[in-house]
Formats: sequence, C-alpha cells, structure tokens
Amino acid sequence: MSVAPPRPLRPHALVRTLLLVAIATHPRLAQAAPAAASAAPFTDAQLEEARSLRERALIDDTGYETLRSLTREVGPRSAGSPGDARAVEWALARLRALGLKNVHAEPVTVPHWIRGNCSVEVVSPWPQPLVAVALGGSVATPEAGLEAEVVPVTNIDELARIDSTRIAGRIVFYTGRMQRAEDGSGYGRAVTVRGRGAAEAARRGAIGVIIRSVGTDRNRLAHTGGMRNEPGDKLIPALAISNPDADLLEDQLASGQRVRLRMSNSSSWADSARSANVIGEIPGRERPREVVVLGAHLDSWDLGQGAHDDGAGVAIMSAAAKLIGEARSKPRRTVRVVLFANEEFGLSGARTYARDHAGEAASHVMGMESDLGAFAPLGLHSRVPPDRLAAIRAMQSVLAPLGVQYRGNDASGDADVGQIAALGVPVCDLDTDASEYFDWHHTANDTFDKVDPALVRRNVACYAALAWLAADYAPGFGRAPGTR
Ligand SMILES: [Zn+2]
Repeated sequence: MSVAPPRPLRPHALVRTLLLVAIATHPRLAQAAPAAASAAPFTDAQLEEARSLRERALIDDTGYETLRSLTREVGPRSAGSPGDARAVEWALARLRALGLKNVHAEPVTVPHWIRGNCSVEVVSPWPQPLVAVALGGSVATPEAGLEAEVVPVTNIDELARIDSTRIAGRIVFYTGRMQRAEDGSGYGRAVTVRGRGAAEAARRGAIGVIIRSVGTDRNRLAHTGGMRNEPGDKLIPALAISNPDADLLEDQLASGQRVRLRMSNSSSWADSARSANVIGEIPGRERPREVVVLGAHLDSWDLGQGAHDDGAGVAIMSAAAKLIGEARSKPRRTVRVVLFANEEFGLSGARTYARDHAGEAASHVMGMESDLGAFAPLGLHSRVPPDRLAAIRAMQSVLAPLGVQYRGNDASGDADVGQIAALGVPVCDLDTDASEYFDWHHTANDTFDKVDPALVRRNVACYAALAWLAADYAPGFGRAPGTR
C-alpha cells in the first residue's frame, strides 16, 4: 500500500492575501485571476452540499435499519440458494422504498453448490472431534468418509518442497495462520491455500485437504470461502477447521506421533441457477446517462447472516443514494447503486455487469465499492488521471473531519467494481479499519449484532459525500490511468 505524498507547503495567509491583492490590482495579472479561480475543482456551494449530506448521514439510521431488514428478513443468501432469490426480491422492494428510480433486476447466471454436512475427527493418537466446514466448491468424500495420516505444511510453497511420496494417499493440513492487520493485508497472504491448496495437494496425490481457517479470531467456528478450481484440476474434499482446532491438531502433531484423521463431506453441485444484479438510481439533473456506480454484493456465504459481508455494503450504498435523492440539489449525473449477484463464488454479477455494460463504459464516470464491513473509514485511494487529483483531494477534504486521509492514486475498485475498472472506469477505494473484520468473515458469527450503527452512519456519510461530488464534478474524471 502506498503512502500519501507529502502535503504541499501552504503560503502564509498574509502573503497569500497580499498576492491576491497584487493580482487583482495588476492590469495584466488580473486577467489571469479568473482562470486561477476556475481551476478550483468545486465551488463553495458544491462543497457545502457535500458537507451537509455528510452531516445528515451522521444522524440518519437508514443504513443500519436496511441492514436489520436484510439480516432479519433474508439472512443467508449464497448463490443459487432460496435465500439468493429472496434477496433479489428484498432488494428490489427496498430500493424502491428508499426512493430510488429505475429499480430493476438484470439477470445473472450463478453456480449452485450445496454445502451438505461435514465432519472431521482425530482417530489417533488421541481421538477428538474437530469443528469444520466445507470450503465452497469442495467435492464430497465417499459416503463412509475417508481416513488417512495427516501431513502438515505451512502453505503451498512448503508443499512444493516436500517429497511427493510423503503426500500421496494422505490428508494435507495447511497450518498457516492469518495475521491481523488494520489494512486486512494478512488475508491476501493467507487465502491462497483456500483457493488453490486442494488442487495443489491433489496434484501430488493427496486424498483430502484440511486448512486452518482464514480468520483472525479464536472462536471455535470455522471460516468458509470459495475455492478457485480450474479446468483440469483433480478435485479432492477440502474442509476448514477453526483456529482452536487447528492449534489442537498442531499440538498432536508436535508430539511426534503419527496423526490420523477421518473426514467426511456430502457437498454436491446442482445446475447453474438464475440470480440477478439489482440496480436503482438517483437520476442526474443534467446528464442522467452518465453514472457514478456505488457497488456492493447482495450474496453472502451461508453460515451466518452476511451482516458485515456484505450486508453492510448493501445497506451503506443504498442509504447513501437515498440521502443523495433527498439532497437540496441533485447532482448533475446519475448515482447508480449496483447490488451484485454472487461475488463470493466467482464474481458472476460483476462479470455480467461489465460484459453487458461494456459499451457504456465511457459513461461510467466513477465507481466505488463497499465490501470490507462497517468499520471506521480511514483512507481514500483514487485511480484517476493526474490532472483530476485536485478534485479527489477536495473530495477527501470533505471526509477529513471523519478521519479519512488521502492515501494515493492506486485504487483497484475491489472485487466487483474492479471488473469495470478494468474497462478504464476511474475508481475510488475507501479503506476501513479491517482489524476486526476477519474475526467474523465467512463464519456463523457474521451476524447483525456485530455491526455498530455509528460506524454504518460514518460510512454512509463518506459515500454520500463522495458520490454527490463525483456525480456533480463538471469535467468528469476521464479514463483511469493504466487501462485502455
Ligand atoms: Zn464480501
């Protein structure tokens, strides 16, 4: 993560005043003054509108109540499940109730994997049951389960260094632990074994895989998440065990005795299913065909309620749009909320949106995504041409009282909005404090009670102000650097 560039030195106020007086009274320089003034990216009135939106958001619980409604009335909503279909209906009704216009669903085909039941137990040397969940996409074991000796490895690199004869016919146990970090960076390092650990172990002859949960908590709950199987992969059952159970298994292995596990899993695949991206808009007052996208994903894993992941994002973006719709002055362009289908298991909704709207990429002025829970906003990244950075800095200045610093022109758009960022759409990322997020992420504990209403309000305030300014910024943001 890059560090914000040093702030420019500001001229002493008196010197600046004298300069302005000199410019205003000098016959030739006076002509330059209007150009200098118009170089300010936003007028005072625009900034005032954004500030007042921010202040209104800080005393408005639309976001929190929207999240309550989603978790209470829909709950888990993994791709292709009955909850997925209910979530689409819920979102259509909710966005309409919040006053958004052009509310509609755009069809998305999603994979449909069915969890079934799983179990893991130590057979020897000291028999004990372990708490486990199947990883998304895992195949089933034979009905009677499978039993084998455990081979521990830290990660895929270590697996690659081990003699394959030690792997063949065994269960590989990935022991690597995710590190807690404010920027969530431990996730990227730890999650590779979830995505590719089973395929890599299978290639070396393993018959099953157990991973230490990709999570920072010490709860006796396991974290699920999608595997990234590729065509040609040999598929073997893959389960995650909770952090305390991974500790226990490591302790038994540390005794030097051979450890045998029995694992069973009954996951299965159904035919692809129909889901939808749900879209609603606050139409722009001057250029309604040009849009600022506020994205979040509507699906969740099945174990909890998808409260932080990503019910919070759905609620935050929907509430931000609602407040923009109620602003004294509507922005020039349209603010479009896109609630993406199936982020968790292959980005189906975001890929479909990018494909179906590729022809309108140039009218997508800016994209933003909320998918790191409802936690304290800390930093703003952008990805815009350098001559638009003054506008981004002005937008950040409106968020500064909320503790948001500018962190660089290196935004990605995150998972879903990243798909349109790849088409050249400029993006902003709002970092939130991710220290706690991975305690709950993808577990049965991702429930409404874990969400702080004040932090939902603060996120809504940020996105409402950012989206209003981005949608009203007359020159637009051009195309993102480094894309076509
Ligand atoms: Zn998510």
